[in-house]
Amino acid sequence: MTTLASPTLARSTKTDPGLEAIRAKILAGQRLSLEEGELLYSTPDVWSVCELASLVRDRMHPGVAYYNINRHLNYSNVCALSCKFCEFFRKKDEDGAYTRDLDYIRAEAQKAIDSGATEMHIVGGLHPYLPWDYYPDMCRAIREVVDKAGSELHIKAFTAVEIVHLAKIAKKFKRDDRKAGIRWVLQELKDAGLGSLPGGGAEVFDDRVHDEAFKGKIRHDAWLDVHTVAHELGLNTNCTILYGHIEQRKDRLVHMDMLRRAQDQALARLGYTGDPDWRKYSGEYEGIDDNSVDAITLTREDSKLPHPDMASGGGYFQTITPLPFFPDGSELENLYGPSGLENLRTLAVARLMLDNFPHTKAFWIMQTLAMSQLMLKAGADDIDGTVVWYDITKVGGQTTHQETTVWDLERAIREAGYEPVERDTLYRRVEREGKAWRVSIR
Ligand code: SF4
Repeated sequence: MTTLASPTLARSTKTDPGLEAIRAKILAGQRLSLEEGELLYSTPDVWSVCELASLVRDRMHPGVAYYNINRHLNYSNVCALSCKFCEFFRKKDEDGAYTRDLDYIRAEAQKAIDSGATEMHIVGGLHPYLPWDYYPDMCRAIREVVDKAGSELHIKAFTAVEIVHLAKIAKKFKRDDRKAGIRWVLQELKDAGLGSLPGGGAEVFDDRVHDEAFKGKIRHDAWLDVHTVAHELGLNTNCTILYGHIEQRKDRLVHMDMLRRAQDQALARLGYTGDPDWRKYSGEYEGIDDNSVDAITLTREDSKLPHPDMASGGGYFQTITPLPFFPDGSELENLYGPSGLENLRTLAVARLMLDNFPHTKAFWIMQTLAMSQLMLKAGADDIDGTVVWYDITKVGGQTTHQETTVWDLERAIREAGYEPVERDTLYRRVEREGKAWRVSIR
């Protein structure tokens, strides 16, 4: 007689033998090819894909999962562009358009300090009329409030799309030397207090998809230029992939491959060495021919993850955050958007393909906290933070006030079987007594 506890029942889902070769490579800490990525996407055995991603995640972050206490600030929703998928932007005189002044921003910084936050996450639209000075002034205003309070608050701000826009309004943008203008903007913002870049605006690095859904927005080459220059300046950055709209799964894999190549270069600058035998892993994908840097993986047993306190400093991608597309309220609301299983699978594939990224994040605001909890068993080691206000994309048309508590985050992590660890923006452990906190170096 079969009982409910039977191992036969527990293994009743058929595993895909085609995944065994991939499993062997993963166990050996070797880089997967894009063809192997396609198999991870096409196999019906999604649970084995999640299990493999979980294995990698547990090797890199044994027993723990991260969250942070943060506060989001959208300084303006006025935008010169009108991306089809976006329900955030408004035109200047449209109902609901807003632009925050420096007093508002100072007050938000004070609220962040009062709530014990370690990070302010700041993004906005591409405002056509705000002067360049507004942006470094915003960073300086926050720093003044922080210094006056004798506190600390990391400013994570401005997507790559905004940085290119700022280079244009600062009149530093040159088509024939894009990186020079980007470098000028990032250095000025860094001097004013910017600590790192978020990962938004990447969407999907495919020109066809870009021209169809994100017309006018920077393409992958400019996005990667911004992050490369930021890395060269010692700023850590993050990245995203927006999936489940008009792109194909293959487009997602190419996107991931471009990111891990940029990370190979960042890690090489920090002194990591790679495996030259893996130069030819790109297979026959068009447009990918840059094999100038060896593949550097961080998923072996003995891999040392980059850390902001390492002697060589920062300047690398910290985390990949897969973002599911929400059709409601956008120009693409005829689409279904990705299913729960597609969300799990894409998170797992990102963990497995991006073998040189220290972290993989389940962004609970867009995935829901319940789904993020499952994602901790599909490759995620981070579920983001308390947030308070998120105005960019709403799950099921929720209001803009989105907030959760440390208690909820920790409970979700514990239920999934991990020790919750509060981190700062740079993934350093935080030791806390109420609202007072300090970074613990481990
Ligand atoms: S996605 Fe960004 S750039 Fe596009 S319309 Fe929305 S705010 Fe503007």
